[in-house]
Amino acid sequence: MRWLIYCVCLAVFPGQVFASEDTDKPRLIVQITVDGLRNDLLTRYRSGFGSGGFLRLIENGVWYTNAHHLHANTETIVGHATLATGAHPAQHGMVGNVWLDQARGILRYNIEDPEHPVLQVPGFQGEGDQVDPAQAIARAGGRSPKNMLVSTFGDELYKSNNGRSKVIGVSGKDRGAVAMAGHTGKAFWLSTATGAFETSTYYYDAYPDWALAWNAKRPADAVIGTAWELADDPRSYLFADNDDRPYEVDLRGFGRTFPHTYGTPEDGLFYTQVLIGPIGDELTADFAKAAIRAEELGGDYYPDFLSVSFSSVDAVNHFFGPSSLENEEIMRRLDRTLADFFSFVDEEVGHENVLYVLSADHGMPEMPEYMAQLGFTVERNFNGELQEELNERIAAEFGVSEAVKYFFRPYLYLDHDEIDATGVAVREIEQFIVDDLMARDGITMAMPREPFPEQIGHMLEEPIRRNFHPQRSGDIYVAQSPYSFLFEKGPAAVMHGSPWRFDTHVPIIVSGTTIAPRIVNRFVGTVDIAPTLSLKLGATLPSGSSGGSLTEVFIEPLTK
Ligand SMILES: [Zn+2]
Repeated sequence: MRWLIYCVCLAVFPGQVFASEDTDKPRLIVQITVDGLRNDLLTRYRSGFGSGGFLRLIENGVWYTNAHHLHANTETIVGHATLATGAHPAQHGMVGNVWLDQARGILRYNIEDPEHPVLQVPGFQGEGDQVDPAQAIARAGGRSPKNMLVSTFGDELYKSNNGRSKVIGVSGKDRGAVAMAGHTGKAFWLSTATGAFETSTYYYDAYPDWALAWNAKRPADAVIGTAWELADDPRSYLFADNDDRPYEVDLRGFGRTFPHTYGTPEDGLFYTQVLIGPIGDELTADFAKAAIRAEELGGDYYPDFLSVSFSSVDAVNHFFGPSSLENEEIMRRLDRTLADFFSFVDEEVGHENVLYVLSADHGMPEMPEYMAQLGFTVERNFNGELQEELNERIAAEFGVSEAVKYFFRPYLYLDHDEIDATGVAVREIEQFIVDDLMARDGITMAMPREPFPEQIGHMLEEPIRRNFHPQRSGDIYVAQSPYSFLFEKGPAAVMHGSPWRFDTHVPIIVSGTTIAPRIVNRFVGTVDIAPTLSLKLGATLPSGSSGGSLTEVFIEPLTK
């Protein structure tokens, strides 16, 4: 009810307390990112949603149903950074979850920053096991937005009023929080090692009391010894008869069918199971609520920015696929989590004071074996195996050993010293690799920094160029064929990251009482979101933003 107090203040001190009387500005912008939400899942599951979650946003907002990421590497950090900055990875610099640090000669995790270690949450210890090869790279442990090369909308909002706006990013994943919080915000994420929401010394010297209090209750541990069960009558699900399919992953006893049984923290993957199940999103929403209340977001004239990135849909997709009973169930559960969260925000901030934005960092392919059943030629390729085979063939052909130094999606990195020492032209090695990879099932494109003439004008050329940063991108970009699989190693039914439509197609919904509801089918880019928000709020455009404005967001309803 803080907004009531604000109204009283405005009446008593008109034009004195506040720098402007522009009361139409939202007091709080809530940007929701659903990790891995392909746009059509909203349509497919619509009948299973209540009125207060996804449908509330759709019915009170503009839904851009043909929105796409325009870059090639549809990975989590790339998408989040693009949503936050309105820039392409070529400008914001987050070209992949992992890239080669050329100065140090080692692979680096995107938001890794040894100078800003993760702040230990008192009483929470534990290493946990890691199923994400990108996270396993992040050995130094620190986290910050230092590697983001341009400003975010949140940064510009903060600057627009001399730092009176508060900017906070919360996520089930570190990269989902850090990218959206930008350089000027505060980021918190769920640790799959300890179950706590943690931050780094970039943001705080010590945890704020409210975060300590939230963690001290150890809410993730509530599901120890319980199971994730279907919330509704099994007959109400489209995928009721498809609960167990080959290539679904049983993550250390979590199982491939309902009910999915949670283990214990000693198992090493318990908090990863937490992230997969509905409790992952529930905890994320609950932590965001604590932030709203403690930081009094939306509590004064200066608009605040809260990013909430939900990770469970993505996790479910990776282990069970997007066309699975688990996916249908997690979407219903997220819908309920959102409805509860929106009710809370109504109470705390007032629904007319909030502008909501919903999108996703990438979409999701189907499981390769499912597409094979439907008649498609698909392949499961593994980078490590491809690297080994390429190096053997290059050694036999050119006498260069270990010419491919690293192959971490999507880039293949050559050992230039090794190649130069043998006197072979790098271009010859590139041609050999391109010919070899593109002759394989499951790979559509292998494009060097300087494409070969026959690659110029290919539909993937532009997305690959938008992904290119000279210090971070590798020598050859490798794009998998539609619905084929490309992954380092580890348990995964499905991997996103391709430049194809199922991976680029995400919803954009902008919702609030100042917006005339409609559905827009025009092709738009996710780079349009951040500039649109800057224009709506009167802030400087994010520094590297490429997008235009989503004009329908500026059309007000006839009656408010
Ligand atoms: Zn993601």
